[in-house]
Amino acid sequence: SKVPPIILNNGVEMPQLGFGVWQVPDAEAQQAVGTALEAGYRSIDTAAFYGNEEGTGKAIASSGIPREDIFVTTKLWNDDHGYDAALRAFDVSLGKLGLDYVDLYLIHWPLPALDKYVDTYRALEKLHADGRVRAIGVSNFLPEHLQRLTGETSVIPAVNQIELHPHLQQHTSREYHAEQGIATEAWSPLGQGKGLLEVPAIVAIAQKHGRTPAQIVLRWHLQLGNIVIPKSVTPARIKENIDVFDFSLDAEDLAAISALNEDRRIGPDPATLS
Ligand code: NAD
Repeated sequence: SKVPPIILNNGVEMPQLGFGVWQVPDAEAQQAVGTALEAGYRSIDTAAFYGNEEGTGKAIASSGIPREDIFVTTKLWNDDHGYDAALRAFDVSLGKLGLDYVDLYLIHWPLPALDKYVDTYRALEKLHADGRVRAIGVSNFLPEHLQRLTGETSVIPAVNQIELHPHLQQHTSREYHAEQGIATEAWSPLGQGKGLLEVPAIVAIAQKHGRTPAQIVLRWHLQLGNIVIPKSVTPARIKENIDVFDFSLDAEDLAAISALNEDRRIGPDPATLS
């Protein structure tokens, strides 16, 4: 593949760039994921909540690509917290995907007020021990949630998937993850396209390199060491978003983008979402 891997803390290799499918209807997922696989993507990020695990699984099955060459992530939804519920939810996801293992299984949100994420994570540890997931991790966990989790369980999460883009650079989480050996995966890496791709500093860097603003933002993530999962259903953009491995941003470009931080979320605050 043209995408270099990140080595997770258990030795498993995960492509640093993958394809996200949030908001892709199940009926369109097969085609979108199929286009991504043809374009060279080998990592797909879905979730039970997205309702498109079936379409995603069909695209994988019909691609002709060996299963072991594709890295599949899915996530446990908020209704399925708790040890037994989590084990059942995993079986449902695996059935919808039509797979016999997933590469990465994540707890979608910590829901701290519910206070079940430790029990839920113990179910993920069992799935990992049973060889049904190659790596386990979390999403939207704040450092305080990770600290509690690692204090009460044995497997350090391989990944924390968090909202991360130039307007929300997540310095505290990124530093904490680096100390703990947890890979940082950026969701909404393009800031959902809204406004971010028109920011003058990003447009100027794009013009300088003869690239698009989306490619510049993705390069910024990659050079910082983030895993990224940009989403598009437009074939030309799907191709554009993976065509980012033949140029580099210089120190000045990186500094200009890093100056855009506003600590501004698009999505919910993990501390209060319940
Ligand atoms: P994104 O930042 O990937 O932006 C996607 C949008 O940007 C597209 O819908 C399109 O409007 C625009 N876009 C994409 N490529 C473009 C291009 N080349 N040029 C111009 N515009 C372009 O946003 P996202 O879908 O929210 O996030 C990516 C993935 O992250 C999701 O699909 C999902 O897999 C994951 N995610 C996870 C969580 C979570 O809670 N764990 C939350 C949100 C998203």
